[in-house]
Amino acid sequence: MGKKVDFIIIGGGLAGTCLALQLDKAGKRVMLVHDDGPCASLAAAGLFNPITGKKMVKTWMADRIFPYLIEFYQYYEKKWNTRFLHFLPIYKPFDSFEEQNEFMGQMAQEAYRGFLDDSTDHERYKPFVYNDRLGFQTLHSGFLQVADFLKYARIYLDSKEARIQEHILDEDLVLEEDKVLCKGIEAKALISCQGMGAKGLALLNKLPLNASKGEVLRVAVPNFANDVIFNKNVFMVPAGQGEYKVGSTYNWKFENADPSDKGKQELSQRLQQMIRLPFEITDHWAGIRPASTDRRPILGKHPRHSAVYIFNGLGAKGVSLAPYFSEQMKELLLNGKVLDDSVNITRLKSLSSNN
Ligand SMILES: Cc1cc2nc3c(=O)[nH]c(=O)nc-3n(C[C@H](O)[C@H](O)[C@H](O)COP(=O)(O)OP(=O)(O)OC[C@H]3O[C@@H](n4cnc5c(N)ncnc54)[C@H](O)[C@@H]3O)c2cc1C
Repeated sequence: MGKKVDFIIIGGGLAGTCLALQLDKAGKRVMLVHDDGPCASLAAAGLFNPITGKKMVKTWMADRIFPYLIEFYQYYEKKWNTRFLHFLPIYKPFDSFEEQNEFMGQMAQEAYRGFLDDSTDHERYKPFVYNDRLGFQTLHSGFLQVADFLKYARIYLDSKEARIQEHILDEDLVLEEDKVLCKGIEAKALISCQGMGAKGLALLNKLPLNASKGEVLRVAVPNFANDVIFNKNVFMVPAGQGEYKVGSTYNWKFENADPSDKGKQELSQRLQQMIRLPFEITDHWAGIRPASTDRRPILGKHPRHSAVYIFNGLGAKGVSLAPYFSEQMKELLLNGKVLDDSVNITRLKSLSSNN
């Protein structure tokens, strides 16, 4: 007889892994199924940043999402006796006087309190970056060592026999009203957390996801600051031993998922415009972000299959969105909690006509 669990999760990136941990913590039996194909989470630089975008605004739901992500990742750091979450300020030198003025107005607003550091020592950063017009520094920011988090989560799930490595095709799935079968495993429900891989299943290929290709460089810069993330049209995350991850590009039209010369040049140029010191490129990679059409996560039940659920659309912010929304997903699965309209899959019409 095959194995029986409560939930099968397809996808071992941030979405699937956070959800597997949430359900496991709630005492449910899960099976995380993933292949070793493309995984945006493994390409990510891991940044979490409450003030983002060209207009430097507080990111969507920051007041709820940021405290939650800290609690979530720290819980697992403690449980597994390791560290993968690192707090570092993000320092953004201003590009122009207009930018400086606009931001100063914003900074005074109550909503930004607690997210910005008004005691920044701009002189300290002068030897490293061009900051003649000063800049601003965020609090509650930093980076997750995503590959390490996923590695430890996989070791943990393996210890509970809760993970298999398989590529899932449509023919591997038997979907009934109140149960699913996948590779000989039976569950009450299946949750697809496949990122762009969801497009490979007929069951999900109408999910309105846009592929956004991103590229990252690893650079070596001797004697450079490693207690801050610099960010001016490009960010620079300390990666240990004098190395930094520099990213990312955003491309909505591309031929393949490989790192490109164009991406390398774009990132090098932007880095040259930000830092005063020479650097050497030591690595270069690319990944594909699963972005929804309205830039909000996609959560909920498949409109045509009652035992199939979807957790996707984390776009460029998987590190900060996955913990909080995996919790919302768990609440939906275990307690039928109604999802917020802004993330509920019911707002998207295209999947209703799916097979
Ligand atoms: C270059 C780059 C830099 C980034 N930097 C950051 C950053 O600094 N901070 C941040 O928050 N976000 C960043 N992101 C975005 C982040 O990576 C995504 O938001 C996040 O990884 C999405 O996670 P996911 O689990 O939904 O998808 P993925 O990580 O893509 O995971 C999908 C999983 O599904 C599996 N899968 C798919 N189809 C199948 C199948 N048929 N059978 C079995 N398994 C399957 C894959 O193997 C994989 O394990 C970056 C992305 C890129 C590309």
